[in-house]
Parts: sequence; C-alpha cells; structure tokens
Amino acid sequence: MKTGILALQGSFYEHATALKQINRDYILIKRPEDLNKIDSLILPGGESTAMLKIEEENNLFENIKTLIDSGIPTLGTCAGLILLSTNDVQGKETLQSIDCTIERNSYGRQNQSFEALVKFHDFTGIYCFIRAPKIINYGEDVKPIAFLDNEVVGIQQNNVVGLSFHPELTNDVHYLEWLESFILKGSNVGTL
Ligand code: GLN
Repeated sequence: MKTGILALQGSFYEHATALKQINRDYILIKRPEDLNKIDSLILPGGESTAMLKIEEENNLFENIKTLIDSGIPTLGTCAGLILLSTNDVQGKETLQSIDCTIERNSYGRQNQSFEALVKFHDFTGIYCFIRAPKIINYGEDVKPIAFLDNEVVGIQQNNVVGLSFHPELTNDVHYLEWLESFILKGSNVGTL
C-alpha cells in the first residue's frame, strides 16, 4: 500500500520528498482511480480555491471524503487544512473532516510569510507560515497538537490532522519521525 498525495497544485513535491526520506511508497493523486491503492493521504499546501476548482472536473473530493471517513491517516498542511475544515471556500463546500473554523490568509500576505518556533507533538521545530490560515475555533472532539506561542496552529480529529504551517518545507528529523508513525500506525498524534 501507498500514501496518496493530492497533486492538483501546490507543495505535493515537497511531501513526496518527505515520504522518500522515510522510505514510504507514494502515489500522486489527480483522479479518483489514483485512490485505489492508498492507505494514508496527504493534502498539501498551495491554493485551496485553485484545488477546489480543479477537482470539480472529476469529483475527486467526493471519493477522497469517503476514504477519509473510512479512517485512513490523513494529513493536511496549510491549504490542506483549509480543505479539511468545515468552512466553505468562496461558496464551495470543503471536505468537512475536522470540526473547525479557519480564517484564510489570516497571518498576512505572501510577503509577510515568516518562520517561527512551533511546539508540535512532543518536539519544537522552526516552520514556515505562508499566507497561512488561522484556526479560529474547533469542536469538542478536536485536539490541539501544535502551538505558535499560545495560538493553536495544529489540530487532530480522530484519523485526521491539519497544520496551518508547512513542515514539508523543512522535513526535519522530528517531523519525519512523527510522519512515519502517523501514516504507518495512524497514531502518535498525541496532545501537548
Ligand atoms: N492562502 C492559501 C489558501 O487560501 C493557503 C496558503 C498555503 O497553503 N501556503 O488556500
């Protein structure tokens, strides 16, 4: 079995690099039939509006939602978190997989991108925020798993994790260890 990486647009190549580093097979997902042999899923950063527009052509997200609901470990970073949230994006329904409200582009414009120390699971790393969404609130079944100072920047609901930053642009050893245990066992999401 493989990890599927949504590859309509955005940082899918960087997520593929992470998976190569942990010797995990992957497949780039562009069409519903690409989903057949995967047992975990990554939704990359990029531009959520563009991804939602592209997927309309083949209803890819309907099939992705069924897979996520079946319980496979699923990680979304930045735009990936937006796709997993319960928000609409410009009137289009997202995957609704994490009970949370986010505000897009809430950390500022592209030229206000920054790197910062983030507490994530049981380690601290320096990660990038690029036109990142803010997690405004989240439901009772959602656990905070990453913090920027006192602000929650990563959450988990059952088999689904959403991060507002880009660990795939760093691919540091702590993140890779976490990723390996998450996609292989669907565990180790933990709380702080
Ligand atoms: N601002 C983008 C969006 O709304 C997300 C940015 C990112 O993934 N770095 O989709």
